[in-house]
Amino acid sequence: KQGVEADGVEFYSEDMNQGMQERMRIESGLRQALGNGQLTLHYQPKFAIADGRLIGAEALVRWTHPQRGLIPPAEFIPLAEATGLVVQLGEWVLEAACAQAQAWKLAGVQPIRVAVNVSAREFTPALPARVADTLQRYGLEPAWLELEITESTLMHNIDRVIGIMDRITAQGVTLSLDDFGTGYSSLSYLKRFPIDTLKIDRSFTTGIPNDANDCAIASTIISIAQQLKHKVIAEGVETPEQLGFLQRSGCDEVQGYLFSKPLPAEEFERALRERSWA
Ligand code: C2E
Ligand code: CA
Ligand code: CA
Ligand code: CA
Repeated sequence: KQGVEADGVEFYSEDMNQGMQERMRIESGLRQALGNGQLTLHYQPKFAIADGRLIGAEALVRWTHPQRGLIPPAEFIPLAEATGLVVQLGEWVLEAACAQAQAWKLAGVQPIRVAVNVSAREFTPALPARVADTLQRYGLEPAWLELEITESTLMHNIDRVIGIMDRITAQGVTLSLDDFGTGYSSLSYLKRFPIDTLKIDRSFTTGIPNDANDCAIASTIISIAQQLKHKVIAEGVETPEQLGFLQRSGCDEVQGYLFSKPLPAEEFERALRERSWA
């Protein structure tokens, strides 16, 4: 049976005990993982549709548990969000992504804009200074960093959120709006956000080109982005047919298994050096 969740308070029936113990195990395991090297980042390249140029990489966290093996983020990120642990996790991710970007910079690879996922709970007035401090410690220009935020971030106190966004983008760090179309953000607010890129959620990309609704939604997001002078990227691109549709619809950038899965840093760098990518 499912737990009932209301305003963050959870009520469990007795047979939920096991589920709760499991959650507590994952939580304490994750807390330890933050310090014991079980977390890593994988990097998935993003490309410009027009010329196939590599334009960046999304950092995606991976947890390798000694007994359970790889635990997918879908299993521990929601839990980390519910417990607040996502704040420490986010600090770890930003730190690790910037350390990697610095290593790439020192190794002389082309500058890669590394995109870090930031959850709503991390989006506090402390974030802009943390970003600035981290970039400075790793000797990185702001163009090396992008933050991906989701619509849920925008649902709370709009003016406060815009203030935080402004202090991030003023540094030259770009923001993209992830999973666009899956949340409830109001279109009237969208124009007020200093956002560089809208990201079409994979749930829409998947239905292209056979599902007429998904095609309509994807083209609509592309035209909203164009009207608002934002760039637009589609995630989860797996087939040439999807790529063709997105290209014809005026989408700027793509990301997905058609081009590459998220790769460990060394493999990502090897692909770069072997010029597998333009
Ligand atoms: P997301 O930010 O929407 O990331 C895209 C997800 O789609 C990733 O799953 C990626 O591996 C997967 N993906 C990319 N291309 C394809 C494709 O062509 N086909 C399919 N089937 N999947 C594709 P992943 O890495 O399992 O991450 C799941 C979610 O966990 C992310 O969704 C994001 O919400 C969250 N997440 C991952 N890393 C972090 C992180 O460092 N911080 C935070 N706050 N959340 C993270
Ligand atoms: Ca993302
Ligand atoms: Ca996404
Ligand atoms: Ca998604």
